[in-house]
Amino acid sequence: SIIMPKSYMVGNWKMNQTLSEIEDFFSKLKLTSNQNNFWIAPQAVHISTCINLAMKAGVLIGAQNCSANEFGAYTGESAIDSLTELGCHFSIIGHSERRSLYGESNEDINKKVLACIKKGLVPILCIGETLSQRENGETKDVVLFQLEQGLKDVELNNESELIIAYEPVWAIGTGKSASSAQAEEVHQQIRRLLNDKFGATGDEISILYGGSVKPTNVEELLSMPNVNGGLVGGASLKADSFAALCDACSK
Ligand code: PEP
Repeated sequence: SIIMPKSYMVGNWKMNQTLSEIEDFFSKLKLTSNQNNFWIAPQAVHISTCINLAMKAGVLIGAQNCSANEFGAYTGESAIDSLTELGCHFSIIGHSERRSLYGESNEDINKKVLACIKKGLVPILCIGETLSQRENGETKDVVLFQLEQGLKDVELNNESELIIAYEPVWAIGTGKSASSAQAEEVHQQIRRLLNDKFGATGDEISILYGGSVKPTNVEELLSMPNVNGGLVGGASLKADSFAALCDACSK
């Protein structure tokens, strides 16, 4: 039998959305078919509020980042235990903004992935090349190196969940999405590495595409066999737009 990975639509709100915008978002959000596969990562300070407001719509809430350390003197960080205690379902790990603005290395990211899997918080491991790397023909090498390093020592059992997000840096927040063919090419390379590392289990791991996904291009991207959903910034901020993305994901 052919194992199909689950399709997800994940909103990354970054450092956006005031309390009143969040209340407005969830009061307007109408989702037609929900399989616990529509997720949102708000700012850490709004996680509790979002969990309460999102319950009715059945949207699962997660973090944009977490600490690899269990607890202690790490000013400004969020512990995985505290996130799961609030009811977080997942954490985005190694987003390109964390890598470029906060200096997160593949080693840091690997520690966070390992800690999430150990604690049962679903990690969404983000990988992707810059424009100059793509122009230099380095996309495959860069993306697979980030994936290999990010997944170092990761072992999956029946309970563990792991999601990969391919996000070309040049497509994030630029309005310029990768074409569906460009996305599928890299997603196939990612799938091969996941199969090499995890065997048949690699077929069950969802690979999301991120980078200027919007209601007008989402169906084309999702039509690709190895594009198993989206990680979306800008187009996830408004309820009607996020609902349209989720609807496309259910088709
Ligand atoms: C992101 O930051 O994960 C992202 C894909 O942003 P946008 O959809 O705005 O390009």
